[in-house]
Amino acid sequence: MRNIKQWYFGNFGGRFVPETLYFCLDELACNYFRYIKDKNFISHYRTYLTNFVGRPTPLYFASKLSEYCGFKIYLKREDLCHTGAHKINNTIGQVLLAKLMGKKRIIAETGAGQHGVATATACALFGIKCVVYMGEEDMVRQEINVYRMKLLGAEVIPVKTGSRTLKDAINECLRDWVTNVNDTFYVIGSVVGPHPYPLIVRNFQSVIGKETKKQILQIEKKLPNYLIACVGGGSNAIGLFYPFFYDKTVAMIGVEAGGKGINTSMHAASLTKGRVGILHGMKTYVLTENNGQIQTTHSISAGLDYPAVGPEHAYYKSIGRAKYVVADDDTAVLGFEILSKLEGITPALEPAHAIGWLVRNKKMFNSTDIVVVCLSGRGDKDINIIRNISHKRCET
Ligand SMILES: *Cc1c(COP(=O)(O)O)cnc(C)c1O
Repeated sequence: MRNIKQWYFGNFGGRFVPETLYFCLDELACNYFRYIKDKNFISHYRTYLTNFVGRPTPLYFASKLSEYCGFKIYLKREDLCHTGAHKINNTIGQVLLAKLMGKKRIIAETGAGQHGVATATACALFGIKCVVYMGEEDMVRQEINVYRMKLLGAEVIPVKTGSRTLKDAINECLRDWVTNVNDTFYVIGSVVGPHPYPLIVRNFQSVIGKETKKQILQIEKKLPNYLIACVGGGSNAIGLFYPFFYDKTVAMIGVEAGGKGINTSMHAASLTKGRVGILHGMKTYVLTENNGQIQTTHSISAGLDYPAVGPEHAYYKSIGRAKYVVADDDTAVLGFEILSKLEGITPALEPAHAIGWLVRNKKMFNSTDIVVVCLSGRGDKDINIIRNISHKRCET
């Protein structure tokens, strides 16, 4: 049953966890590979994507941004998904799988609260108990999302250990899982963690790329020259990239969070500045201090603020299939403002990194190029952050 080769993307990925977790992961992998071939499961999943999430999302020609940049830009509108971002594509899939596996309880960890909300939403949909672990520190910073999760019927457990943030919440979640594996399913929110999670989440998110391919062929009668997406854990990016993996003419660019600059310690650019190491059960690029401790990261966008990255991106980087670049906080703010003004679309701060990077690097592209940007989420959640910044700007 254990095909260890399948655990890896090139040299990255794997399953670096205590022996006690092997049983949980084997059970998950075994069931996933069984249900993914089950027509009933697939048709259920598709029906919820259509009627609950609102798929397919449009591939929108951004005519004014295109004119401004000098080449054609299409936006894959994941911001129009129910709950406002791509994360729901994955949580619906995993919670449906949990239900079929006979699990009675869902656990998840959340940093900014977006994955917690997407998981609580899927649990409300399927009528299954939901427990979300969240660092105490994060609960204060993201109180609206805590309220949203509770409204959706989830129990939010404050994590008081360590730095009281995401990584401590992950540890608590794993502890819970080992103890309660018989009736509990752990829903991970990005293409990270030990095998089979990176593969499962990528497959659920690859609906983004599959739709994009169909849509661009319909509109342009050819494939795009570039795919661009922001990279936190990497799920919206790999969801867009993966179905184009073998299309050699399609270049891929992942945009990481440069925070206050990659020559400071305040960024989250794992692929650009990290070292190969092990975190959260996977071998990948990790941001560490000189003594090997995990670096404290920073990004203006909570969703990109993670000190590692999905192993499949590490693999794409190692074989040169995708290129990874950096956009700092200011570039993200530029992207946020420019897309709002030019197109009437306010992006989440995460994809605003991709928009800002594109605008600042528009000279790199030819006038005949077709570029698809994954607009992973909408910006309503970030309005206050930007408003506070522009207030400060006005005062000085
Ligand atoms: C969580 C989030 C991200 C980052 O996660 P990935 O796994 O890298 O996609 C990006 N955009 C939005 C809107 C998010 O909510």
